[in-house]
Amino acid sequence: MDWERVVRRLRERLRPDQVETDLAGRRVYGRDATWAEGMPDVVVHAESTADVAHVLRIANDLRIPVVPRGRGTGLAGGAVPKGGICLNLAPMNRILAIDPADGIAIVQPGVITRTLQQASEAHGLFYPPDPASLETCTIGGNVATNAGGPCCLKYGVTRDYVLGLEVVLAGGEALRLGGRVMKDVSGYDLKQLFIGSEGTLGVITEITLRLLPMPPARGALAIAFNRLEGACEATVALLSSGILPLMVEFMDQTTMQAVESFRPSGLPTQAEALLLLAADGEPAAVEADLQRMISVMQRHGGQLLRTAFDADNTPYTEELLEIRRNASPALAQLAPHKISEDITVPRSKIPAMARRIQEISRETDIPIALYGHIGDGNLHPTLLCDRGNPDEMTRVAHASAAIFEAALSMGGVLSGEHGIGLLKLDFVPRAFPIAILEKFRALKALFDPQNIMNPGKKLPPATHLSEEP
Ligand SMILES: Cc1cc2nc3c(=O)[nH]c(=O)nc-3n(C[C@H](O)[C@H](O)[C@H](O)COP(=O)(O)OP(=O)(O)OC[C@H]3O[C@@H](n4cnc5c(N)ncnc54)[C@H](O)[C@@H]3O)c2cc1C
Repeated sequence: MDWERVVRRLRERLRPDQVETDLAGRRVYGRDATWAEGMPDVVVHAESTADVAHVLRIANDLRIPVVPRGRGTGLAGGAVPKGGICLNLAPMNRILAIDPADGIAIVQPGVITRTLQQASEAHGLFYPPDPASLETCTIGGNVATNAGGPCCLKYGVTRDYVLGLEVVLAGGEALRLGGRVMKDVSGYDLKQLFIGSEGTLGVITEITLRLLPMPPARGALAIAFNRLEGACEATVALLSSGILPLMVEFMDQTTMQAVESFRPSGLPTQAEALLLLAADGEPAAVEADLQRMISVMQRHGGQLLRTAFDADNTPYTEELLEIRRNASPALAQLAPHKISEDITVPRSKIPAMARRIQEISRETDIPIALYGHIGDGNLHPTLLCDRGNPDEMTRVAHASAAIFEAALSMGGVLSGEHGIGLLKLDFVPRAFPIAILEKFRALKALFDPQNIMNPGKKLPPATHLSEEP
């Protein structure tokens, strides 16, 4: 590829500082939050939909791969480029409108998730999806990965809040899909295809999101268990008891110990598991729900450690939630590398899945910490390893494969929220029959006939298609 010519064409519309070619600058955009590494040939910092369309027209003409990027917090290698153009959407970070009458926000893709939440709160409104990375990740990245978070147990994931999208397709054509209405069956719902598409169908350049009224009160509990299975069984019992908690989050002993040495908060590190539960709504209803939750937990061997109840705008529950958000960075301190898997199983299978993960850890001699959004059946088995040790990495590969096999055999899926990206590609043919993989490919070809949009992510190459699950 004649990159000088490509850069000249890009700069016909873009300022020189929007088109970055020096090695040090490009290196920053070669990684996400995983160990996967790549290098773009050019980085373009987009500031408008017109910038994005300009880049995609040129890329399509010259068949250059384009990797859209939010803030690179992804945990599947989705934003890691293997050459081509890294299209950085972070500068498109304006909240265009918050409209309490229609109950919506309209944002550019580079808006940080927490920034949108705070701006909504100023209007008494609530944007529930809350990935643990919410201080750094973008709404565009959240839509592209259909991100989840603790509050998604009660309120649903990013998908449930997207009313409208503006997307730019590979040839530079911009489409507006959906809009500001709450109900719409007037066409095929194309916007849903872009949610969770991991940058493989087009670039998301504007998002219209549904907002809810802010619940007046929130309360939370920390419950310790001497047996890990007790915590899993208590979760299943709670969710079938007629209560819908705001969240049920889980940590095993390894995760608790890591979090405690990362940011001490008095966690019971001798216990085998910790559940963090929360409820929201009217204050009296929250108190009643917390009491009912405590009873269910105690019946299954749980010991109440802490109760938090927000009143007078003092967010005590935030303290408990912060403990959960520290899980991923804390585990990163335990070993040179960590690989965070993201399987989801039907919730009745949670105890069996947790048991199987412990067996896999023993069989492969790989330490596996376990935490996650257990109320959704979404667990993050985290393999602690050293990528410089080939023997260990062979055992890590076996452990990952065994975890995926177990999840699939229990009616679960390879990823609940992080996506397939680059890192789980090899397992996709195990999860879908050929007929469905072929439909995926046909869909991709419809929107991106030249395969320039984040190629080699989410969908394995056609050669993999011969392996029927
Ligand atoms: C500590 C930590 C905790 C996390 N906790 C959670 C969690 O609780 N829940 C959860 O779901 N995830 C979590 N994540 C993963 C990550 O934060 C999410 O996947 C997030 O949605 C990625 O946003 P981003 O802006 O960083 O996107 P990036 O990492 O930049 O990109 C992610 C994918 O989206 C594509 N993409 C990005 N922007 C666009 C766009 N505008 N148009 C088209 N495609 C685009 C990229 O090509 C890539 O495939 C966590 C990550 C970390 C590091």
